[in-house]
Amino acid sequence: MTFFWLNFQTPYACRDSGMCCSSGWPIPVERSRVTLIDEAIAREVLPLQVVPWLAPDSGAPDDVAGTLALRANGHCVFFEAGKPGCSIHDVKPAGCVHFPYVCLIDQRGVHVTLSHYCPTAASLLFEHRGPIAIVEGPAPVAGELEGLDARESLPPTSAKAAAFAEATADKTAGKPADHAPRLLTLDELSQWERDQVALAKIGELGSDDLALFEQARVAVPAPWSWPDAPDHLEDSWHSLVAPGWLMFEDALTRYAAAKIFGSWSLYLGDGTRAAAHTARLASAVVRIEAARQCGIFGLPLNRESMTEAIRQTDLLLVHYADPALLASARA
Ligand code: SF4
Repeated sequence: MTFFWLNFQTPYACRDSGMCCSSGWPIPVERSRVTLIDEAIAREVLPLQVVPWLAPDSGAPDDVAGTLALRANGHCVFFEAGKPGCSIHDVKPAGCVHFPYVCLIDQRGVHVTLSHYCPTAASLLFEHRGPIAIVEGPAPVAGELEGLDARESLPPTSAKAAAFAEATADKTAGKPADHAPRLLTLDELSQWERDQVALAKIGELGSDDLALFEQARVAVPAPWSWPDAPDHLEDSWHSLVAPGWLMFEDALTRYAAAKIFGSWSLYLGDGTRAAAHTARLASAVVRIEAARQCGIFGLPLNRESMTEAIRQTDLLLVHYADPALLASARA
């Protein structure tokens, strides 16, 4: 199997930031791991503050025994339970092993991207030098991969063909379109992806950013939610964010490339048009989250607030939002 990466993400290696272990996420535990984890607890004599370590989840799939118990502060019960970092590193659940990798598996191979909620992944956006390229790389994890498996799906449709079909349907006052959206060949899809990565860019605050931000917010299923856009958005943008925005142009361009590369919306929505729209949502969200971060501290944009804005954007888009709802958002 071939693994495709963006070149600036291939140096990723966990630096034990602990963000994934302290976020209060309900991380599923496979039934096959339960005994292994119990044995590790007994062998290592782990001083657990929450017992039992496994929380029941009545809606979980058959192969899931429950979720990792959390302490009152939202930390996983195994985070720094007797050792720095994860105290069950060798037997941790698959969700932990896969974080922060986000994989799209299709007939071409596996596209590997990273969730920038991970501070280490976010730092790579600022550290790379040189052009962006799609490269072949290693498997992100040993063993079975998690991600969107689209190997049995038809290839995505062409955005241009879909738009043409829609325009035709409009003109014929409700009659069906003469031209159905055209499926891309795999070579065309890869070329489209290379073109989009080369053109990727995140500009300044736009007039439709609030509407795009709302589309991302409403893709978050209950009981989760995401806060409204900050008050005085335009003021914060112009006074605190805009003066420093271009300083981060390179990092933002890499982030934009990561939001179009390996997009699940290609298969969950209407092909390249959905993927392009999801990338636009990310651009709008990162601008608004930058304004939120700067507004909170009343400080001009700096590396710290830019990083936090990117982390929050991926927290919303990668971890909170339903990928199918995001993919169905419309311009
Ligand atoms: S099991 Fe380990 S890696 Fe997973 S959330 Fe808990 S401490 Fe982190």
